[in-house]
Amino acid sequence: MSATDNTTAPVVTRFAPSPTGFLHLGGARTALFNWLFAKHHGGKFLLRIEDTDRVRSTQAAIDAILDGMRWLGLDWDGDAVFQFARATRHAEVANELVARGHAYRCWMTPAEIDAQRAAAQAAKQPLRIRSPWRDRTDGPADRRFVVRLKAPREGATTIDDRVQGAVTVQNAELDDLVLLRSDGTPTYMLAVVVDDHDMSVTHVIRGDDHLNNAFRQLPIIRAMGWPEPTYAHVPMIHGADGGKLSKRHGAVGVEAYRDELGILPEALDNYLLRLGWGHGDAEIITRAQAVEWFDLRAVGKAPSRFDLRKLDSLNGHYLREAGDARLAALAGERLGMSDDPALDLLTRAMPALKPRAANLNELADSAHFLFAARPLDVDADAAPLLDGDARATLARAHAALDAVQHWDTETTETAVRVVADAAGLKLGQVAQPLRVALTGRRASPGIFDVLALLGRDESLARIADQALAEEPAA
Ligand code: GLU
Repeated sequence: MSATDNTTAPVVTRFAPSPTGFLHLGGARTALFNWLFAKHHGGKFLLRIEDTDRVRSTQAAIDAILDGMRWLGLDWDGDAVFQFARATRHAEVANELVARGHAYRCWMTPAEIDAQRAAAQAAKQPLRIRSPWRDRTDGPADRRFVVRLKAPREGATTIDDRVQGAVTVQNAELDDLVLLRSDGTPTYMLAVVVDDHDMSVTHVIRGDDHLNNAFRQLPIIRAMGWPEPTYAHVPMIHGADGGKLSKRHGAVGVEAYRDELGILPEALDNYLLRLGWGHGDAEIITRAQAVEWFDLRAVGKAPSRFDLRKLDSLNGHYLREAGDARLAALAGERLGMSDDPALDLLTRAMPALKPRAANLNELADSAHFLFAARPLDVDADAAPLLDGDARATLARAHAALDAVQHWDTETTETAVRVVADAAGLKLGQVAQPLRVALTGRRASPGIFDVLALLGRDESLARIADQALAEEPAA
């Protein structure tokens, strides 16, 4: 434990998403920071689904969030806690606060609240409800009431935030927030506090859009006499233009990075970690290093900008590191190839393919030629490479390769070099038409790797298809 973590309780963090959409990048980063902080301190990382908004919370969103977290390797301890199911407990705490004199029943009518709102508007002041029931208990027994917190009005509240530093709000600026609605249901503000307490959360690490909420939550915690968590409010992620990251910047859900952009989870984790946190100039940071190094002091105060090019370059690194069989399965999924021979071929192809790809889409695309049916479709920009003497050259290459005994990268290279030398051509002048004949494209892995991967029969047949073809009539 570092010197400033002077609590004695074991560290417990939590990620508390509202299941109203996909797991977005900001949420994934919050989860990652909580996960790393817990692991760094040998503590626990818990998951709470904040599903109290019954209209906007969906099972599909819950599934997407759990799926995204599993994909990113952010496993949580114990079962996920569902907030809505704990409403009775939340109400119990509100009633306890009433019994202790820290909260009160408020019978203000909508008309009275409207009048305060209008007065605040006229005075150009924010609305702060001042309830006449704060110190009275003799409300009408036959009318419904809400339960409000009796928030302190004098003095100031300071939060010593691990990221934002000391932040102070005058208590006069806070109002007596509602804890229980008139139908008896708890408010979000109450639910968060009760759940964090009951889950023994010691560190609340979340987006800085919740900093204002902390000033409304802390008085509830103090009124109950509960231990106060350490807060760390992490700045938002912005898009390249400096605005808060949103749909207009492209994909915001992690599943799109996986499914559409072909990013590996370890690359996204590394990227999200570096977005707003640093350890010297380290860019490539393994999970083990992240657990060892992570602390809240190195979280920046300024919003960070999302940069897809950086993510792609990290992803390229992790693709080169990744195991061939794993990449073969991922590329195979994208190509619709999952049978054993296809996966075996893809696995053998990976050492030649993966150095050239920045993401799984490029990787799958570069493997396409392995499964292409004869006669190959030749890309429009590659077709001119078969003009002139190229088809005659292919015929010679075919004859030379046909004589190769043990077919591999070396023997095929020797044969092609002999053809080039005999014809007074540079190696590239033979390799380029061969590439087009074998892959249908201008670019591919090294041509001898391509020959070896396709094997003798398929290679010779593809070369023959182009070598023997008639020049198209002009
Ligand atoms: N449910 C809140 C959200 O998704 C987070 C609440 C919290 O972390 O305290 O923004």
